[in-house]
Amino acid sequence: MTTWAHPTTLDEALAALARPGARPAAGCTRLAFELADPSRRPARLVSLRGVPGLAELTLVATAAGRRLEIGAMATHAQVGAHPAVRARYPLLAEVFALVGNVRVRGVATVGGVLAGAVYAWDPPTALLALGARVRVSGPDGAVRVVPLAEFYPAPGQTVLSPGELITVVEVDEPAPGTVGRYTSFRTRSAEDTSALGVAVTVRIVDGVCASVRIAVGSGTPMPVGFRDIDTLLVGRRPDDARVRAVADAYADAVLCVDDLRASAEYRAEMVRVWIRRTLSAAIADAHHPTGPQTPEPQTPGPQTPGPQTPGPQTPEPTGGPTTPATLAGGW
Ligand SMILES: Cc1cc2nc3c(=O)[nH]c(=O)nc-3n(C[C@H](O)[C@H](O)[C@H](O)COP(=O)(O)OP(=O)(O)OC[C@H]3O[C@@H](n4cnc5c(N)ncnc54)[C@H](O)[C@@H]3O)c2cc1C
Repeated sequence: MTTWAHPTTLDEALAALARPGARPAAGCTRLAFELADPSRRPARLVSLRGVPGLAELTLVATAAGRRLEIGAMATHAQVGAHPAVRARYPLLAEVFALVGNVRVRGVATVGGVLAGAVYAWDPPTALLALGARVRVSGPDGAVRVVPLAEFYPAPGQTVLSPGELITVVEVDEPAPGTVGRYTSFRTRSAEDTSALGVAVTVRIVDGVCASVRIAVGSGTPMPVGFRDIDTLLVGRRPDDARVRAVADAYADAVLCVDDLRASAEYRAEMVRVWIRRTLSAAIADAHHPTGPQTPEPQTPGPQTPGPQTPGPQTPEPTGGPTTPATLAGGW
């Protein structure tokens, strides 16, 4: 039997989460599987629905430019349809709009898709390519901000401690002219999760790559990016040979999973193929910054130049084992 708490403030929610075995409940599209299974049923759930302010999307001015703050209870549908997200972060709008179906997107939340730590899910990969950070509140009211690149210490795990809660996801606004692309490679039905997800952000200035950030997920135990490989393109003309070299380096470095959607071996080849194609498409768009994936300012006034790369330069896993992992996954 699961006991539910329905707090109406963040403090009440944190107090309820401090009780042994208590966990947050958001859209419940994942938790529903646990609730249906007596052997996995959570003892205590704390509904976040009545906590004010957790579902807001806000653009905040910063010293370096602007950042988007997405409340943990914002639904996928909200993010996908939000005018500022569509204008300035089209990559995010696109990826949240492709999750599942309209019923799922109407209730599934940003906090849930990150905290769920299911490798097959798409949005964490796109958020990683945008250098997102996760704001976390703890039982004593302490707040910490964790780069998404450090949020998954191991497959299926997050850095969240018992009693902690995601409140906000922060995404710096990419520098003007930055282009984002996401490829969801699906091997089964359109409603299924991706067998592989590849997200790319790239900015070209005078024919030379000013910034590149790649992330791979869904076919890997957790979303990963290799900054040492990405930087092979920075300061250079992104010709076909260099793009292929980057795709090959990713295919060699990445650890893929074996599951019902695809074998690890096949996925490793698809990493090569889809990084090459996604990166080439993004580069083609970035040469023409009025392209459909280019964030366009919505508000009048001068555009404060943002950082050169769309996020802090946090260390990310480099290299890593190439042994295929077999994991249970999917939704
Ligand atoms: C039919 C179907 C199709 C789907 N297709 C796709 C797809 O194509 N692509 C894809 O990426 N995903 C897909 N999904 C998965 C979907 O993205 C997740 O189920 C959803 O995002 C989880 O969010 P939620 O709000 O429902 O989380 P919940 O089920 O409420 O919670 C999930 C986990 O996160 C924890 N949690 C929730 N909120 C917080 C918080 N703020 N802080 C800390 N912990 C928290 C909960 O305790 C729980 O452990 C699909 C799901 C379904 C049911």
